[in-house]
Amino acid sequence: MARVALLLGGNEGDMKRTLQTAQRLINERVGAVMRCSHRYQSPAWGFKSETLFTNQALEISTDLSPIEVLEAVQQIENELGRNRAAEQIEKAATGARYSSRPIDIDIIFYGSEVIREERLTVPHPLLAEREFALQPLAEIMRSFRHPVTGVSVGEMLDAVRTAEVVTE
Ligand code: ATP
Ligand code: MG
Ligand code: MG
Repeated sequence: MARVALLLGGNEGDMKRTLQTAQRLINERVGAVMRCSHRYQSPAWGFKSETLFTNQALEISTDLSPIEVLEAVQQIENELGRNRAAEQIEKAATGARYSSRPIDIDIIFYGSEVIREERLTVPHPLLAEREFALQPLAEIMRSFRHPVTGVSVGEMLDAVRTAEVVTE
């Protein structure tokens, strides 16, 4: 059994409904959902978009291997309307690295395993730069430490947080 942290996000369609369906399918096919953050909205990261992204973090308990988890969540992305071919066309047109999508499901942590394969890098390589990922993640696993850097999720969030508490 492995504890796996997933980050779900998207900016197209009815995100509340899509995230609910994604969570149900993950629970049925990938592993029991142990913890689930609120949904957080933030502007697009890495490209320009009029539409806000909604993100949610889940912690699941699974018997699947890391690659099996990846394949299962990609299948769920496809079923929920993700169209990678259309995204490639949009990215080619805009020159951006990212594009709008109804759902993205990334593996953030797979226990404390460090995986660097062609198809899979875990922990997710851009986690420490992404407030939109760290904020929901901190809600469910604030003290969990990154297996390579040793920095906790809460500490990573404090390092990237853009808004600051006003003390005067
Ligand atoms: P980013 O990974 O920067 O958030 P993205 O989620 O938009 O980008 P996708 O188009 O969803 O990228 O996936 C591109 C490829 O990333 C996938 O085909 C998958 O093989 C690979 N990948 C590598 N590491 C991971 C990971 N930890 N979780 C999910 N996909 C990963
Ligand atoms: Mg992603
Ligand atoms: Mg992805």
